[in-house]
Amino acid sequence: MEIRCKTAEKDQLKAKPEDDSKLGFGDIFTDHMFLMNYEEGKGWFDPRIEPYQDLCIDPAAMGLHYGQEIFEGLKAYRGRDGGIYLFRARENFKRLNRSAARVCMPAVDVEVAMKGMKQLVLLEQDWIPRSEGTSLYIRPTMLATEPHLGVRPADEYLFFIIVSPVGAYYKEGLNPVKIYVEDRYVRAAVGGTGETKTAGNYAASLLAAEEAKKKGFTQVLWLDAAERKYVEEVGTMNMFFRIGEEVITAPLTGSILPGITRDSVITLLRNWGIKVSERSLAIDEVIGAAEEGSLEEAFGTGTAAVISPVGQITYKDRDYIVAGGEMGDLSQRLYKEIVAIQYGEKDDPHGWRERIN
Ligand SMILES: *Cc1c(COP(=O)(O)O)cnc(C)c1O
Repeated sequence: MEIRCKTAEKDQLKAKPEDDSKLGFGDIFTDHMFLMNYEEGKGWFDPRIEPYQDLCIDPAAMGLHYGQEIFEGLKAYRGRDGGIYLFRARENFKRLNRSAARVCMPAVDVEVAMKGMKQLVLLEQDWIPRSEGTSLYIRPTMLATEPHLGVRPADEYLFFIIVSPVGAYYKEGLNPVKIYVEDRYVRAAVGGTGETKTAGNYAASLLAAEEAKKKGFTQVLWLDAAERKYVEEVGTMNMFFRIGEEVITAPLTGSILPGITRDSVITLLRNWGIKVSERSLAIDEVIGAAEEGSLEEAFGTGTAAVISPVGQITYKDRDYIVAGGEMGDLSQRLYKEIVAIQYGEKDDPHGWRERIN
């Protein structure tokens, strides 16, 4: 499929951020975006790059009413060698299609989406920041646009990709975060949509996160919806706990997001000969380990932060300090390894990286 490209006029171009160190997350958008449309019976059509602009959507667009909206999150990295790199990007579009299937939206052609994304990133390459830890965040999104108010899957969709230069995701940087174990609200139940990146999951998580923030926490750690007994994940990260010599993460039973960073961490740990278990982990086991001193490390994994070490876990109003409130050895090693692969500074035995320039 040919991608049409209409670039912005010179006098429409925005000023680029001058200071990489002041970049936040998701506030600045570039000059162009990728779009394509879908109609039932016709399929996806008119893949194109256009100047970044407001969308024109009917107020009855079904995605605005019944939540047929899915997205992805990945990054383009600028290496010190000038290379522009993607990390396991195809996996993001495969996951987008799994999300699509769950909420009755059409799959995209992974190759068309990849091509559109690469073309957009190359067009916007001067927006990719160069300082350490910075990147160009890529947000593919799909929304139901058919104007109709009966509840059923829509017949028309819009797929678009926008990109945003970003600094470090967490204000604390790599400093460990405090997490609050949430035992009232739940994020997702087995059988629901927890394993997809669909908008409603995030709406459902906001209140708990806001209440935790007011108490001074960065994130909530979700427990399983049925029993509030097993640890699942935090905000937009999967969770790992190192107890003694075992590293444990929740299994993919349907209520948690199958993170690409999670999968990369599991692969690296196994390569390093470290025992990793994808198994149910009771919060009582985590707290017991913290009390007896065998909870060596806890960390979240996700594209935005890569590895986010946890320095404190609070459960039923009691605080438990993890790894002395510092970043643990394994968290550090994983972070360095993954970042080095992403920025083209290390061998890539798993074929995770792709240079696009
Ligand atoms: C995106 C996301 C993750 C992390 O996935 P990555 O592919 O590693 O970025 C974890 N949990 C939730 C809920 C997410 O939305």
